[in-house]
Amino acid sequence: MTPNREDYLKLILELGGDVEKVSNKKIVAGLAISGASVSEMISKLVKEGLVDHSPYQGVQLTELGLQKASALVRKHRLWEVFLVDHLSFSWNEVHDDAEVLEHVTSEMLEEKLDSYLKYPKLCPHGGMIPKHGEAIHEKKRATLIDYPINTEIEIARVLDEKELLDYLVSLNVKIHDRYTITNIAAYEGPITLKNQDREVAISYKAATTIFVDQL
Ligand SMILES: [Zn+2]
Repeated sequence: MTPNREDYLKLILELGGDVEKVSNKKIVAGLAISGASVSEMISKLVKEGLVDHSPYQGVQLTELGLQKASALVRKHRLWEVFLVDHLSFSWNEVHDDAEVLEHVTSEMLEEKLDSYLKYPKLCPHGGMIPKHGEAIHEKKRATLIDYPINTEIEIARVLDEKELLDYLVSLNVKIHDRYTITNIAAYEGPITLKNQDREVAISYKAATTIFVDQL
């Protein structure tokens, strides 16, 4: 599937583009497409006033872009909560359906869904669900690679990205899990986490997209 402009806006938002510049390289990695198609789409988004772009630094959402992305992400995440809490989906299975549903959700359906779910504040991946008309600003957090050995952490949010979520499911790592960092292998090797129940090694790449709170 070719990512459309909404996919770009949402990804830029997820990568922190509400408050800072996001590099083209990160966008290419997040959408798994060529650098050329990313550049092309970014020029379009600049023309439409949805992002600002500065060479070598990357893109940041404008006020308008942030509004658009927030409205979409709100619908997307409400559906994720519905699918997980009421239809027994696992957190790595909800993305595709939420993606389709967000585009066919009227404002009335959105409000009724929100009320039915009792106004959830977070999606199953720990992402913020903004109120109607409000912009998303995710809490600024460091990732798993930013802390030294012996730090106690709680997993607070992960990127809503299928490959990462499948990986975390295979390791049985979940949101709100608490661990101590017990080893950080050299040369961007795996990071080992431990708690009273278990020990698990997480690849460096995955660790860069796992946002944690220090306990
Ligand atoms: Zn989510």
